[in-house]
Amino acid sequence: MPEIQRRRAVTVNIGGVRVGSEAPVVVQSMTNTDTADVESTVQQVAALARAGSEMVRVTVNNDDAAKAVPYIVEGLANKGWTTPIIGDFHYNGHLLLAKYPETAKALAKYRINPGNVSIGRKDDDNFRTMVEVAVKHQKPVRIGVNWGSLDQALLTKMMDENSKAADPRPARDVMMEAMVVSALDNAVAAERYGLRRDQIVLSAKVSGVRDLIDVYTELARRCDHALHLGLTEAGMGMKGIVASAAGLAPLLLSGIGDTIRVSLTPTPGGDRSEEVRCGQQILQSLGIRSFMPQVTSCPGCGRTTSTYFQELAERIQGYLVEQMPEWKKHYAGVEELKLAVMGCIVNGPGESKHANIGISLPGTFEEPKAPVYVDGKLYTTLKGDRIVEEFQEILNEYVEKRYGRVLVEA
Ligand code: SF4
Repeated sequence: MPEIQRRRAVTVNIGGVRVGSEAPVVVQSMTNTDTADVESTVQQVAALARAGSEMVRVTVNNDDAAKAVPYIVEGLANKGWTTPIIGDFHYNGHLLLAKYPETAKALAKYRINPGNVSIGRKDDDNFRTMVEVAVKHQKPVRIGVNWGSLDQALLTKMMDENSKAADPRPARDVMMEAMVVSALDNAVAAERYGLRRDQIVLSAKVSGVRDLIDVYTELARRCDHALHLGLTEAGMGMKGIVASAAGLAPLLLSGIGDTIRVSLTPTPGGDRSEEVRCGQQILQSLGIRSFMPQVTSCPGCGRTTSTYFQELAERIQGYLVEQMPEWKKHYAGVEELKLAVMGCIVNGPGESKHANIGISLPGTFEEPKAPVYVDGKLYTTLKGDRIVEEFQEILNEYVEKRYGRVLVEA
């Protein structure tokens, strides 16, 4: 696959995780527990990290949350997790960071929302205070602009100027420009107050796919800061997943984006880690990074007599998810493995030959047998009631032989 030319971005070290064009695109996520509830937050961060989140953000919205942060970081360390924890601040971050130095020290990065840090003020003293704490503790910051909380004074000023222009631009374009200006102006101010360029990440999140592409394309053109990419408030389920993929893909393919978050609304009681897997899948589908063996399966059609092959695809997918935590430890490169589970011989053997291991189940009126291809060659033909189990055995042997050997040779 042709390599994607990453946009040049200064690399930022966030608690040991590098974000920028010299590093792989990092997947991150955010908790939805009450940060003051140390135990629940530790559990959720650990679950997100286990799913592959390389950094996790927690809201730090009041005194109790701020007091809890050092205990959360300690609780995670006791469980063996060193995942960098990022503090998400709005309105009162300047007060909390100054009041709780242990919290300021424990966090790996501070997210500052320039749209709500200085509401009602003519100066930017609150922003400066947060930056000064970051400088004191040598922590990077993300200047995170969000259109839902865009700096209203800046937007009003730019809208006024636009309305007086000879050829006024559409209001939507002025809003996008205001987001870019807010991020860039605050980055300049942060450097003025003592942060280095390699301590600043920028984001400008919107909830519309076309807006996202436009605003990040412009932001990327006008700076060399590392960019945190994500469609804000993406939504629930399929809508959120599709919209995030549609928005992130063109940018990532253009080399824009150094860390991503997929902001899915979970179903009540749903699995927060879904957003991590979604982010990983977006990167893997684009050939940017590999996280999990991939299963190619056909949609099925009138040629398949039963749901058997769907069940096989599902069981294999589940088996891979189950095995990966162990496989990752023993088999270097196993995340590159490609499987094909196909419903009949029309495309089955062809697709199977493109995979490391492929199986083609019998369709309607076909002989009740399932040819298995390994590395493009017919390996065996399975029959009877134990097709799934026998296929898993072939899979295990292949993983051991191919990726076990890589580790030994290394
Ligand atoms: S591979 Fe066979 S079963 Fe699957 S969609 Fe194509 S024709 Fe239908």
